[in-house]
Amino acid sequence: MGSMHTRLEHMDEAVRREAAFYGARAAGGVALIVTGGFSPNIAGMFEPGAPLLNTREQADHLRPITDEVHRHGAKILLQILHAGRYAKHDDIVGVSALRSPINSRSPRVLSEIEIQSTVDDFVQCALLAREVGFDGVELMGSEGYLLNQFTAQRTNQRTDLWGGSLENRCRFPVEVTRRVRLALGAEHIVMYRISAIELVEGGLGAADTDYLARAVEAAGADILNTGYGWHEAPVPTIAYHVPRGAWVFGAKRLMGVVNIPVVASNRINTPELAEQILAEGSADLISMARPMLSDPEFVNKTVRGRTDEINTCIACNQSCLDNIFTDRVAACLVNPRACRETEFDAAPATHPKRIAVIGSGPAGLTSAVECARRAHQVTLFEAGAEVGGQLNLARRIPGKQEFNELLRYLTRQLQLLSVEVRLNSRVDAGALQAEGFDEVIIATGVMPRTPEVPGIDHPKVLGYIDVIEGRAQVGNRVAIVGAGGIAHDVAELLSAPTHAVQTPDDFYREWGVDPTVTQGGSLPVADPTRGRQIYVLQRSSTRIGERLGKSTGWILRSKLKRHKVQFINCVTYDKIDDQGLHIRIHGSAQVLNVDSIVICAGQDPDNRLASQLRALGIECHVIGGARHATELDAARAIYEGTRLAQRL
Ligand code: NAP
Ligand code: SF4
Repeated sequence: MGSMHTRLEHMDEAVRREAAFYGARAAGGVALIVTGGFSPNIAGMFEPGAPLLNTREQADHLRPITDEVHRHGAKILLQILHAGRYAKHDDIVGVSALRSPINSRSPRVLSEIEIQSTVDDFVQCALLAREVGFDGVELMGSEGYLLNQFTAQRTNQRTDLWGGSLENRCRFPVEVTRRVRLALGAEHIVMYRISAIELVEGGLGAADTDYLARAVEAAGADILNTGYGWHEAPVPTIAYHVPRGAWVFGAKRLMGVVNIPVVASNRINTPELAEQILAEGSADLISMARPMLSDPEFVNKTVRGRTDEINTCIACNQSCLDNIFTDRVAACLVNPRACRETEFDAAPATHPKRIAVIGSGPAGLTSAVECARRAHQVTLFEAGAEVGGQLNLARRIPGKQEFNELLRYLTRQLQLLSVEVRLNSRVDAGALQAEGFDEVIIATGVMPRTPEVPGIDHPKVLGYIDVIEGRAQVGNRVAIVGAGGIAHDVAELLSAPTHAVQTPDDFYREWGVDPTVTQGGSLPVADPTRGRQIYVLQRSSTRIGERLGKSTGWILRSKLKRHKVQFINCVTYDKIDDQGLHIRIHGSAQVLNVDSIVICAGQDPDNRLASQLRALGIECHVIGGARHATELDAARAIYEGTRLAQRL
């Protein structure tokens, strides 16, 4: 299990929660766990309050984590991470006085004496980890953190022993590895995480990376883990836009370079892909971080041949990274228990009930599964011919095919838990009353909002559902009314190349990735647009797309920019006719001469059934979009479905 920040340290009873979090993964069959990064000194902390390990007292505090992991027979390494110029606090230090483009703070340059004492701090941190039961450490040398900042000319302009030649630039990570190995002795693991491809100008190319890999091996590293791209790289590395297995080339290349085991990581989310990588000899070990968040039982299920029961990470970043980037504790869209292990009760209900769930979108499916898991007898009603609701739209968006896995997982759970599924059943309040259920859960979702614009019935006007499901004929010039998440997805669907599923080669071409790693920077990008002219419009004056996910919004925006999509805010809609869409921008009238106008103007709750039931005096629980449509996403729907089931 790869390292991942959770920010659990910011919660009450943090260590109890962390022990439960790592313990669940150890119980789930993971062999080797790497913790989130701990800084060896205050300057290296990522932010105030971030994990720090430089005193005996802090170390003692971590004992419950190692005890819990060892109780389940797994091993655990503490990751030592010095943030360098990525730190978000005032005591920020750097190799040279060069600010990162993703940080407003400028670093103070480390003196030679401070560099030596930072090496000592790494050693001290590793020793403290050993004392408190960790099986070793991982040295974080990738993603653009301090060790990586030393090796790259991009960030290292020193002229002393620690800069200049490749040997000098690699001196700091090599010295850290050598001293940590010496201090820990042969019985403890030292894993080094190397940047297998930097994806930034001034990063290391293949030959220099090979030199570093051999040097850390010679300095005493037992295992070489791989990382991909600096945090400031203009290329997505782990979001759903990256095809599965796209980074395996990095580990494969290093397999011939060093004699210690090499680890493949990033966008490996199924046992089948992991097995293929091992069988092809592309890596010796597989590291997964987010897939362990989404299913702590991933390994056990694989070993027992139950891979269709794995709750697969869909690479959305929505509840893990986006939470971290907005100063919240990580969670998981598909698994609300992640990082909340101590808050959920696994025990069956004391009084099993007959429960009706109406609607089979993410909220309905999850509540049905969770109620059945608690030994209730559940009937799931769906008006359509298939389960899934809005998930069936999401999975048709380019790159979002990972949503198929969520649907597969939930559908399999329905089978395993013997939920009675009634498709094509638009049930009404009278029928529900006649069946006499003990509890009724309304998860009827949302209805697309229709704006009041003269001409809204014109044949040019299309609903987003028809467009996404491929039922509508869309012309070459398109206006999209609304600029929320769905409008962005529709713009991507209409502008992306016709084959929706990208291969790794498509991805390399689109983002300028050079899999031969002949240079650290990016290559010129290909323009894969379909040639449509698309306008995305909104009435408000806010920056378009500012509410998209922190870690994925920039990817979508830069793709759409490349596809020459035009974004216009401060729009007033006047009318629609044969000429197109008549608008005013800051009062000035214009006609967008378009063939199609796609309405993506948000949604309203569909709570009609709840009102009917209440009129008959029948209590019901309303969840998901039916309760509140604004800012509804699958994460909230699944969370509400799970939480409600816990209470029934
Ligand atoms: P949304 O994010 O609320 O956006 C609705 C858009 O419609 C806004 O741009 C709004 O802008 C406009 N609008 C609202 N009322 C209107 C009216 N009466 N006439 C014309 N325009 C109107 O809703 P959504 O795009 O349907 O997305 C629903 C939920 O799914 C959101 O929570 C969203 O975050 C989530 N989602 C996210 C993604 C993603 O992150 N990629 C993808 C899909 C869905 P103005 O009011 O300024 O005109
Ligand atoms: Fe994976 Fe999304 Fe869960 Fe993060 S929130 S672990 S990306 S499924």
